[in-house]
Amino acid sequence: MTVRSLKTEAVNIKDAFEKFEHFCKAMLDAYAVVNKEGRVIKCNQQFSTLVGKKSRQILKEGSFDELLTLTIAGQTISIEEILKQKTPTRIDEVRGSAEGSPELNLILGIYPFVEANDTIGSFILIRDVTAETNLQDKYKVKATQSITDKLTGLYNRTYFEHYLATTLNSLAQKGESHKISVIMADIDHFKAVNDTHGHQAGDFILEVVAKIFRENFRKTDILCRYGGEEFLAILPSTDLGGASMAAEKLREAVAAYSYVFNKTTIPVTISLGLAEVDIATDSGETAIARADAALYHAKKNGRNRVSTHKGNKIE
Ligand code: GH3
Ligand code: MG
Ligand code: MG
Repeated sequence: MTVRSLKTEAVNIKDAFEKFEHFCKAMLDAYAVVNKEGRVIKCNQQFSTLVGKKSRQILKEGSFDELLTLTIAGQTISIEEILKQKTPTRIDEVRGSAEGSPELNLILGIYPFVEANDTIGSFILIRDVTAETNLQDKYKVKATQSITDKLTGLYNRTYFEHYLATTLNSLAQKGESHKISVIMADIDHFKAVNDTHGHQAGDFILEVVAKIFRENFRKTDILCRYGGEEFLAILPSTDLGGASMAAEKLREAVAAYSYVFNKTTIPVTISLGLAEVDIATDSGETAIARADAALYHAKKNGRNRVSTHKGNKIE
């Protein structure tokens, strides 16, 4: 055999693939063997199912690009680009579109056949993860919904209490001397807002107040709608001094906002109660009860103010 004929044999992707073919029969994923012109020269039943065409038709029509359109983050990747790969490559989060399956989520394994530094074709392994991805997305939405208050988008009470309890527990176990503050806020005379302007106006105000909360707290603070028109916030690593400044800023921001509903401006203020959590001794309930007592004090002393639970005193 001459050198020349050896070379001719070696550059034939069909021959190069032949020794793997038997082994590939056991593969659960779809695969296609593509020559350097981008034509599918071998594929399995899974690939045929994926692109919605019989294998005879696939081999006749040939072009991989026409059988399956691949995109990553909105950018199309052509078979030419795949064929440029000189080393085995895995690509996650690929979107695929084929006849009858416009929205596929895929993981690709690209195994190039390289002869004398030249890619003569590629073995393309395709894992269809569409069902799993859809299920994960659904689960994520459900998981978010279960901890979120629908009207305001803040955390709900169940999640907040769980978070507070687990945070305190883990900090207590570590023996850390972190300061955590809790702020409870309640809209003043909210019943009158509903009675005068209607329930929809009340809902509108709840949404806006929640937005002001989000804008004024830090990303690391945990905010929740605790009840009807009552909000709670946990400020990690914040002592009473810092929390007091945050509460005052919030009170001012809520009072300063212009709430216009159906062309009517509705004045809104909040009262706030502050408490510091002693990680070594306090439970979540104790912390919330102290903030609640401080809030009651703020209400009794004229509303639109901040009261603080300090030691055994409220001021
Ligand atoms: P205070 O200053 O003492 O807090 O008086 P208040 O009127 O705000 O308190 P009260 O507890 O008497 O009334 C709370 C009102 O909040 C009554 C209820 O109808 C209203 N409310 C609770 N949840 C919602 C809601 O989701 N939407 C609307 N629009 N109103 C709500
Ligand atoms: Mg109220
Ligand atoms: Mg209330």
